[in-house]
Amino acid sequence: MSAFRPYGVVLHCTASRFGDAREIAAWHRARGFDGIGYGRVVRNGVRRARDPYDVATDGLVERGRADTVVGAHCAAGGMNRATIGICCVGTPGFVPDGATRAPASYTVQPYLTAKQAYSLVAELASLCRAHGWDPQGTFRWQRRDVPVITQHSDHDRGKPLCASLHLDPIRRAVAAALR
Ligand SMILES: [Zn+2]
Repeated sequence: MSAFRPYGVVLHCTASRFGDAREIAAWHRARGFDGIGYGRVVRNGVRRARDPYDVATDGLVERGRADTVVGAHCAAGGMNRATIGICCVGTPGFVPDGATRAPASYTVQPYLTAKQAYSLVAELASLCRAHGWDPQGTFRWQRRDVPVITQHSDHDRGKPLCASLHLDPIRRAVAAALR
């Protein structure tokens, strides 16, 4: 692992109904990664498979890998070396019982909770502010202009459902949060 400076983010989902940073770190270690590959995890209020929904941890943002360390979340396009991975816990088509859904315009199928959507937008705004990124802009990488906010499926054809988000409304919400 070498130090790096990120130019944007790649968004992911866990493709599970539950999880947190510790759980994901165990999944990633089992795949041979050096701990969690994502820089952030946005929780959905369900930590383990049989846990009931917990409003207190819905939308909680956990830190994963440090922002100064190359991640392990999207090898395609060399994105590990250019971006921070942000993973929303959840899987398209499932919303935890008791949770309020995110705006329908944000996702291809319902899965994000309203609190996750709020936290995701706030976290993206905070990263944009800290790094001087335009959430609706691009960065130059390997002779391509890459949007500052993308998702896994934009880079890897083998991950068509990750993260099943509509990015334009999310980018607009981040831009609005920065004004
Ligand atoms: Zn992904």
